Amino acid sequence: MSEEQADPSARVSGGWKRLASTLVQGGRPDAASADGVFVNSPVSRGSTVLFPDLASMRENGTRSHDHELVYGAMGTPIQHQLERLIAQIEGGTHCQVVSSGLAACTTPLLAFLAAGDHLLLPDAVYSPTRRFADTMLRRLGIETTYYPPLLDETALRDLIRPETRIVFAESPGSHTFEVQDVPMLSRVAHEHGAKLMLDNTWGIGVFQPFDHGVDVSIQALTKYPAGHSDAIIGSVTVADEADWRVLRDAAIQLGQVAGPDDCWLTLRGLRTMAVRLGHQAKSALRIAEWLRGRPEVARVLHPAFDECPGHEFWLRDFSGASGLFGVELQPEMPVSAMHDMIDALAMFGLGASWGGYESLVLPTTGGIRRNIPGGLLQGPAFRLHIGLEDVDELIADLDGGLAVLRASWAG
Ligand SMILES: *Cc1c(COP(=O)(O)O)cnc(C)c1O
Repeated sequence: MSEEQADPSARVSGGWKRLASTLVQGGRPDAASADGVFVNSPVSRGSTVLFPDLASMRENGTRSHDHELVYGAMGTPIQHQLERLIAQIEGGTHCQVVSSGLAACTTPLLAFLAAGDHLLLPDAVYSPTRRFADTMLRRLGIETTYYPPLLDETALRDLIRPETRIVFAESPGSHTFEVQDVPMLSRVAHEHGAKLMLDNTWGIGVFQPFDHGVDVSIQALTKYPAGHSDAIIGSVTVADEADWRVLRDAAIQLGQVAGPDDCWLTLRGLRTMAVRLGHQAKSALRIAEWLRGRPEVARVLHPAFDECPGHEFWLRDFSGASGLFGVELQPEMPVSAMHDMIDALAMFGLGASWGGYESLVLPTTGGIRRNIPGGLLQGPAFRLHIGLEDVDELIADLDGGLAVLRASWAG
């Protein structure tokens, strides 16, 4: 048995170790090609690109939209640098950086779908993606069917129609953390001429999408890559040249870019991501293990635990974990007692999003939308994001919170 298999803490942080050198060295200015360069690239803010004469301007007009300097709406040099590093981390060939994680979900859906097409979305999908499918895509004549995230191959075949163009996956699922069998989804999608699109935000760095048959990999770079809760940005990565042309063309038509300062912040965040995530994954596992032993807790929805639905796919396909997981309380606990507990926490910020250096808590009960009846969660639930604070202080804070929960319940 390897060290990683024997030690769960090494298992959750192993993938980050493998990525550390790439994150530090990848996509940096080339020191050999100049008299001397700063370690980091400068931010060039720009819309207009100026030319010395008309001939060079005309030549620029014939350049591919992938070129570094065409017009600010096609991206700036720092955006293209970020795109190269994301493509490298995800094992793809091309990446398009867009204005937000949500735009990273909507842009490829618009790029690859047309009126009359059919889309399969997992029922645990990030809720703004659900809303986009239920409103804009529906209006454009694209029909969506929601599928149980852990459906088997036969059930998936039953849902696929001749007009199914995209099987969308999000693994683990938002709030309920089902880990999906992405290689199976991809195999069945491809047999039917559909593409497999994955929202890989939780798994960046620890799930290699293109090794598992994914065609389009989506990231909310807002989360761990930017890593400091100070930017909204997203990315879409592909491996296939034909997919790239479709995606790039749609991004340009939709005016999808990210500001150079946000690209720079994200590159800066990526340089330290392996260290942050290695640490956050270990702290999160310790806290998850502590919570798992508490009588108030029914289940900890952490992909590294066997009670997490789809845990076997995490074991098979992931090389590590991140710092985000769910907690389901005993079914007899009132939601109001959970709210009192959350209000009593001092170390955990209360707010949307995750992936920064700071710990966060968010109640998920009341915020989960599902189309398929028979919800997964029986008790009140909340989501924790574990940051870089001292892990013992975080546990002490949660201990105090659970005391408030018990008192509120008893009262
Ligand atoms: C946060 C998130 C998004 C959206 O990212 P924004 O940058 O906030 O728009 C998309 N998918 C998942 C899974 C997310 O967690």
